Amino acid sequence: MKLRLAGIVPESVVDGPGLRLVLYFQGCPHRCPGCHNPETHDPAGGSEVDSAKLLARIKEARGLDGVTFTGGEPFAQASGLSKLAEEIRRLGLSLVLYSGFTFEELLQKSKADSHVRRLLQAGMLLVDGLYIEAERDLTLPFRGSRNQRLIDLPRSLEKGAAVEWVVVEGSA
Ligand code: SF4
Repeated sequence: MKLRLAGIVPESVVDGPGLRLVLYFQGCPHRCPGCHNPETHDPAGGSEVDSAKLLARIKEARGLDGVTFTGGEPFAQASGLSKLAEEIRRLGLSLVLYSGFTFEELLQKSKADSHVRRLLQAGMLLVDGLYIEAERDLTLPFRGSRNQRLIDLPRSLEKGAAVEWVVVEGSA
């Protein structure tokens, strides 16, 4: 499966709990003013990569707690990412998802799109919502503006409503 990728950060401690490999996916429809990654907006930009190659790269990495999908808008490529997400989980790694869509919007999309549903089901944590410059706060763990939420995906999917993720001391 071909995916459009903007970049890889092999080790990060600011894109979710623990040590994470971060995949920046190319293409974003949201166009938030003040976005820190405007080069990721063009869906035809970045480069095409094979998901099998990304998985091999993840398997080679040592000491990871998990993988983070960000962008760009990962859910714009849900059909290519759902299987990769499930394979990452089978490796025993956790998955953090960033999206400009809210959990409620993604839940609605998941009713008609099985790939969105599978991607949500593979995730541990969703950082949701648009980046809003007026809400900018650099002290927040894992996110840039106060409107964005940390969503506990397993509990939220079970409940059918957003359950915020509790940041345990030492995890953020
Ligand atoms: S959703 Fe993220 S990548 Fe897309 S425009 Fe907003 S801040 Fe930028």
